[in-house]
Amino acid sequence: MTLVLAVANQKGGVGKTTSAVNLAAALAMEGRPTLLVDLDSQASASSGLGSRQLDPPTVYECLLGEVPTVEALRQSGLSGLDLLPSNRDLAGAEIELASLEQRERRLSMAIAQVRNRYQTIVIDCPPSFGMLTLNALVASNSVLVPMQCEFFALEGLGAVAASIDRVRQAFNPALDLEGILLTMYDPRTSLARQVASQVREHFGDKVMATSIPRNIRIAEAPSHGLPVVCYDPISRGAVAYRDLAKELISRRLTQSQQRAVASAELVGESGEEASTR
Ligand code: ADP
Ligand code: MG
Repeated sequence: MTLVLAVANQKGGVGKTTSAVNLAAALAMEGRPTLLVDLDSQASASSGLGSRQLDPPTVYECLLGEVPTVEALRQSGLSGLDLLPSNRDLAGAEIELASLEQRERRLSMAIAQVRNRYQTIVIDCPPSFGMLTLNALVASNSVLVPMQCEFFALEGLGAVAASIDRVRQAFNPALDLEGILLTMYDPRTSLARQVASQVREHFGDKVMATSIPRNIRIAEAPSHGLPVVCYDPISRGAVAYRDLAKELISRRLTQSQQRAVASAELVGESGEEASTR
């Protein structure tokens, strides 16, 4: 099954785009065909993969149902990673979507057309909780929430968790919180250490074990149109995002193994031979 992962947090500047681009690239490097969906009209994820100021079609036309999704897909420079880009047109979508039928399912419908091509689809969300982020959460199985270890971070996380709960109840019962990702983490500052330990206390194993260090190479990479995992593969930032991809894959494998064991146990309980199936 394709994992559709929204990278969301209504706060800006917490590392959503950086994490979406680099996680998508790192997953592709692990051999998983991956699609990165840019759902922000700032189009930073698109330019981070070297696609600046693109002509249509982009994700915008796909949301409006004007073109088949496959026509808007672009290859990235990295094998196994495609991009569904955005451009400034997307700024109008928050309002235009509101008057359409199935307005919160538009991205879900667009993704369904190409879902089978990919093992993972990563969606970079805008820094607000409007119609676009709602579309992302309705289209996803799971949400990754990047956060910076600063004052009020915990309050911000509470708001994100509440939004996810509302979407789960109203539209998408299958939506999971994949995890919270500590970004721009600098363990030398005591505030960062304190906030990190509070978050871990509060959210337990929902906090990804991998945290992303503050690293200048991560900030430089987009101006070269490259994910840091390609721009400087041995930098601390690149290694962290590759570790994150491996952690995500192993968590997912563990979960599906647990499900397989549970269903084998169910079969066992009902008296059938698991080995004959
Ligand atoms: P968001 O998408 O949540 O608004 P971004 O991913 O665009 O956040 O990150 C905000 C800024 O911080 C960008 O300029 C980005 O290059 C920089 N940045 C993000 N993560 C790191 C990091 N780990 N180390 C250094 N700079 C980072
Ligand atoms: Mg962003």
